[in-house]
Amino acid sequence: MSVELGWDMIVWGDVTLRQLLQYTVMFIVVFIAFKVVRKLFSRKTTNLQNTVYFVCRHCEWEGQISKFGTQCPKCNMPIE
Ligand SMILES: [Zn+2]
Repeated sequence: MSVELGWDMIVWGDVTLRQLLQYTVMFIVVFIAFKVVRKLFSRKTTNLQNTVYFVCRHCEWEGQISKFGTQCPKCNMPIE
């Protein structure tokens, strides 16, 4: 049947239309799962707002520290 021929039609390289559809469905499923996971972790992101990016002037350490931190976690020099 022409419909079956359509599904086995090469779309790109050696990928058939059927495979392309399967990949598309897989991609959508992964994309939705990713969005759900991100939503679940969005509360954690809110907590991360209590941290700030910091580069130490003394030892050049860089990373996230607590917004309420007063000294460098590496060299213990006070944050200015
Ligand atoms: Zn430091």
